[in-house]
Amino acid sequence: MPAVSASLSGRPEAVGSQSRLFALSGGKEVFMELCARRDVPVGETWDLSLIYADEKRMWEELEKTKAAVAKLRETYAGRLGTTENIVKCLDETEPIRQAMDRIWNYAGLALEADYTDNELREREEKVGDEITRMESDMAFVDSEILLAPKEELQSAVKSARGCRVYLEDLIARKAHMLSPETEKTLTALGRTLDAPYTIYNTMKLADIAFDPFTANGKEYPLGYSLFEDNYELEADTEVRRAAFRAFSSTLAKYKNTTAAAYNACVTTEKTLSELRGFGDVFSSLLFEQKVTREMYDRQIDLITERLAPHMRRYARLLGRKYGLDKTTFADLKIAVDPEYDPKVTIEESRRIVREALSILGDDYTDMVERAYRERWIDFARNIGKSTGGFCSSLYRRNSFILLNWNDRMADVFTVAHELGHAGQSMYGDKAQSYFDTDPSSYLIEAPSTMNELLLAHYLVNTKEDKRFRRWVLSSLVSNTYYHNFVTHLREAWYQREVYRIIDEGGSVNADSLSDIFRRNLELFWGDDVGIPDGAELTWMRQPHYYMGLYSYTYSAGLTVATQAMLRIEKEGKPAVDDWKKFLSAGGTMDPVDLVKLAGFDITTDAPLCATIDYIGSLIDEICRLTEELDGIKV
Ligand SMILES: [Zn+2]
Repeated sequence: MPAVSASLSGRPEAVGSQSRLFALSGGKEVFMELCARRDVPVGETWDLSLIYADEKRMWEELEKTKAAVAKLRETYAGRLGTTENIVKCLDETEPIRQAMDRIWNYAGLALEADYTDNELREREEKVGDEITRMESDMAFVDSEILLAPKEELQSAVKSARGCRVYLEDLIARKAHMLSPETEKTLTALGRTLDAPYTIYNTMKLADIAFDPFTANGKEYPLGYSLFEDNYELEADTEVRRAAFRAFSSTLAKYKNTTAAAYNACVTTEKTLSELRGFGDVFSSLLFEQKVTREMYDRQIDLITERLAPHMRRYARLLGRKYGLDKTTFADLKIAVDPEYDPKVTIEESRRIVREALSILGDDYTDMVERAYRERWIDFARNIGKSTGGFCSSLYRRNSFILLNWNDRMADVFTVAHELGHAGQSMYGDKAQSYFDTDPSSYLIEAPSTMNELLLAHYLVNTKEDKRFRRWVLSSLVSNTYYHNFVTHLREAWYQREVYRIIDEGGSVNADSLSDIFRRNLELFWGDDVGIPDGAELTWMRQPHYYMGLYSYTYSAGLTVATQAMLRIEKEGKPAVDDWKKFLSAGGTMDPVDLVKLAGFDITTDAPLCATIDYIGSLIDEICRLTEELDGIKV
């Protein structure tokens, strides 16, 4: 569930025209008619009038912003050789960028809530084009600043108030910048360079069509989100595995187009890294994150090696619990206790989230209250709405959170997670300038997963009941840790293999990608999990591959969150205070120094090893509770 700040990249898939959701739980079928967006209760939608009272105001601000960009160009183009002009120009850029964020969010978020609305789609495309044009007109700022004499740049860093880190980053990037004309051309080609991702999404959202499948003598409808949100979790093994086979066989029909788009994406990244003078594509992709190759490799290698034995035990437990001959890749998402799924209303979630996060202080609970009261959150389920969840924050204003509320306790975890992104923005924005507020993407998922852990910690202490305790702990393992430490980590391992091939001048195709992914799954799961035909196509399922080295950061963020949560559990207030220092520092330091504020040293493998041990201890306890509750021993 990505945090989205300045742009709405990383969009989750849209439901498209699918009008029926078909949920199965413990073999019981529940049909849910999805309604049109206009029929959704207003109280369950986000309030975009927090950005503009109406659309007219957005267009007015767009015109004003275009004029401001033209003026900026007129005033500073060709004149950015002095400290004074550099600082003044960046100061004047700040409100322009904030306005662009507001405009982009207003148009983009409305579409996220209903992709079937062609008017919203046209508006979003128009706004997107206008913003790309403005970006292109402003591209001179960075490239001209870098042409300024060294002394002027150094004195600009010293005298800049709100853009010190921005300037330092720019200077660090200098060795990799191309001529102003080339930079302008590349910016103007931005949408074209993004074409692989657009093609991937178009295949996934518009073209791919699933035929119904049959299980237990009955026909079931199939769709992308139906599979990922329902059938993959389905307790009936025949239905779950039949859905997996049907899903995979349809996916396979699109593998060559998808591989071609992906190959175009990674070869473009390779070409850009060469043009910009990076030694290899990894250095180029890690450069922006301020992360060393060692930190990146450690995350992938250590988790592969040390977490695997724990996860295999968990897989065996699932197999025993469901009476399977052998657990397969198609069974890994099922719940330990499928009959037990606590229901919760939106109003109850408000109290639960507020109380769970109250350990972070009154300012945090005030934010939670505001999020509900001022309608920052889009809970509704409707035709054409994006699936999954995300949080998009506007500088020193509110955040917007998209999710699809389903009355399950799992949805409360999503709310807590997304509010973690909102909390990061709240503290960072308060203490830092617009330019310096966003931390490296290495840490983006730390505040969000921290909130999931705090919620679990709160829940286990509310009831003595063993079944409830097992449910909470297994939610942590099967959602929070599985998602971040297994799913995304396998993606990261796969990506590393792909980039190695690309770096050596090779290319990839559907067959080579499938080979890599199969090896990947076999390496991690060993003999404990069967890898059925179709599992190797998992490389087709994630949009993250089009976002550079992003997948591995999920486990990096959660490592920091886990250690900080355990420290808060043990030490209380001093640890909470350090966590807030970490949040407030925004992007003013690199990840290593930021995490030091929270009390940890991520240049060593200690925090990651301790986190893997912690996951192991959760799985041990789930096994112990299952032995007590069901007499099943693993
Ligand atoms: Zn997230």
